[in-house]
Amino acid sequence: MSDPSCLFCRIAAHDIPADIVHEDQRLVAFHDIRPQAPTHVLIIPRDHIATLNDLEPAHREVVGEMHLLARELARAEGLEEAGWRLVMNCGAAAGQTVFHIHLHLLGGRTLGWPPG
Ligand code: 5GP
Ligand code: ZN
Repeated sequence: MSDPSCLFCRIAAHDIPADIVHEDQRLVAFHDIRPQAPTHVLIIPRDHIATLNDLEPAHREVVGEMHLLARELARAEGLEEAGWRLVMNCGAAAGQTVFHIHLHLLGGRTLGWPPG
């Protein structure tokens, strides 16, 4: 299911251009428009899921696939040895600004902890 008013649904449908690095039947991955690290890729399901609060058991496989794709892209970006990070913000207080779940894959520099 997709939501025509959702930015990431529209990117997945190629209605809005993005620098796509991977797509398959269930997932799309593309470069973040405002990268916070040398590697900053967003991994989304094609299905519209607004936030982590909306996850259901039926999403188990796609959420697993998002992580496996992140692992593949991290390897392709040469990040394995130095380290890399996955972030998924849930809700406004956590900094979520696009309400279609997305994994941020970040790497290529030393990342501070705790996050802001
Ligand atoms: P959030 O703040 O919801 O966790 O992350 C949303 C991310 O989407 C931000 O890092 C932001 O830079 C990125 N973003 C927002 N609009 C666009 C867009 O039109 N294209 C791409 N490629 N990234 C976007
Ligand atoms: Zn959407």
